[in-house]
Amino acid sequence: MKQYKIGSIIKNHCVQCFHDEQKVVEIVPKEFSEKIVEKLWTECTNCGKTHSRLVQHI
Ligand SMILES: [Zn+2]
Repeated sequence: MKQYKIGSIIKNHCVQCFHDEQKVVEIVPKEFSEKIVEKLWTECTNCGKTHSRLVQHI
C-alpha cells in the first residue's frame, strides 16, 4: 500500500505538456463500504496544470 503525502512527487502523466512528474497538493479521503479511496489533486511540476485522480487503499 502506497501512502501519499502533500508535497510528494508522484509519477503521473500530464495531459497538457506530457511531463511525467506531478506534485501532490491536496488529498481528500472518501470512504466506501469496504475500501478507502483517496482523491488526489496533483499539480504538474512543469506547466502547473492541476489534475485529480482516485487511488484505492484495500
Ligand atoms: Zn504539465
